[in-house]
Amino acid sequence: MDMRWTRRQFLVGVGLAASAVHAMDPFDPSQVSAADERKGLFELKQVADGVYAAIARAQYKVNCNAAVIVNEDGVVVVDAHSKPSAARSLLQGIREITPMPVRKLINTHFHWDHWQGNQVYPEAFPNTEIVTSHVTLDNLTRPNAGLGGVPYIEKQLKDLPQEIAKLKEELRQASNPETKARLESDLQQAEAYLLELKELKPTLPTVSFANAVTLYEKGREIQLLFLGRAHTSGDVFIYLPKEKILVTGDCIIDWLPFLNDGYPEEWVQTLNEVEKLDFTHMILGHGEVAPKDHLKFFRGYLIDLIAAVKKAAGEGATLDEMKKWVADQLAPQYEQPMSKYPQRHYRDRIGGNIEAVYQKVIQKA
Ligand SMILES: [Zn+2]
Repeated sequence: MDMRWTRRQFLVGVGLAASAVHAMDPFDPSQVSAADERKGLFELKQVADGVYAAIARAQYKVNCNAAVIVNEDGVVVVDAHSKPSAARSLLQGIREITPMPVRKLINTHFHWDHWQGNQVYPEAFPNTEIVTSHVTLDNLTRPNAGLGGVPYIEKQLKDLPQEIAKLKEELRQASNPETKARLESDLQQAEAYLLELKELKPTLPTVSFANAVTLYEKGREIQLLFLGRAHTSGDVFIYLPKEKILVTGDCIIDWLPFLNDGYPEEWVQTLNEVEKLDFTHMILGHGEVAPKDHLKFFRGYLIDLIAAVKKAAGEGATLDEMKKWVADQLAPQYEQPMSKYPQRHYRDRIGGNIEAVYQKVIQKA
């Protein structure tokens, strides 16, 4: 029996008025589950029959997006956010669209905000397989791999009390009501996150692969691909060839990227490989669902950033001069499109990007 949901079934399933069906496009951002609105952490948006993007709402402690792929006999989820409570919130949303169990969870990379909720799925469904690349599995346990993995949990537990103390001090000094409200919310989130992190049961992938593996989930083909180093040394892309959808992890996002655990020049090469795949839409690690064209824009930023840093270094600029010059030079093209969301604006992060490229490309640190 064909269990793929029609658009009408989906809309009924999430409780939207059937009369709204005609006005909706499959990529219309207004397709939001009312239940998810109430829960607050994700908006579930249908991208194709049975394929949903769970778009994380802006939070002080960020959560990644997830992809939810509903198959005839079970669900495949991509990525598990920064904490179990976020994964549980998404699981509730999944239960509203399908009675199927989650059978597989895929981790795109080892960063904290993409895997720390892993434990929720095997707790709910004991046979859940957690899948990633060999390299990401290694990164999850290796000391000093970067901003994620088991050793990074200890580091966060050590650092969070200072972060909380700093927020309290900022709150004490704040006079503007808007700033105060924001800091109060940030402080609440940081304190709740610390409590949750203390109880975390780090749950590692159960299966890993070298370069590629294809899952055949009762008629749906799901390719898991490692295409070269990029945002990290072990990034996994999830490609649905029939639906022409690509799930990118943080290799492509709708913010300024985080480069500190990345390989800027190889990242460009990896995106050249990604571009060869036949797809129309991408579910990104952060930000809204994007058309394939966004790949060119995002890669263009990396290429322009690397070129600008090389040029400034060639002219003998200091790192501080470089941070100002390159940020100003790239601003006309990138500042506005990379400052769309409430947090992580261009000017907040570009200095870190310039420094990372300087260290990795010029100094080859
Ligand atoms: Zn990441």
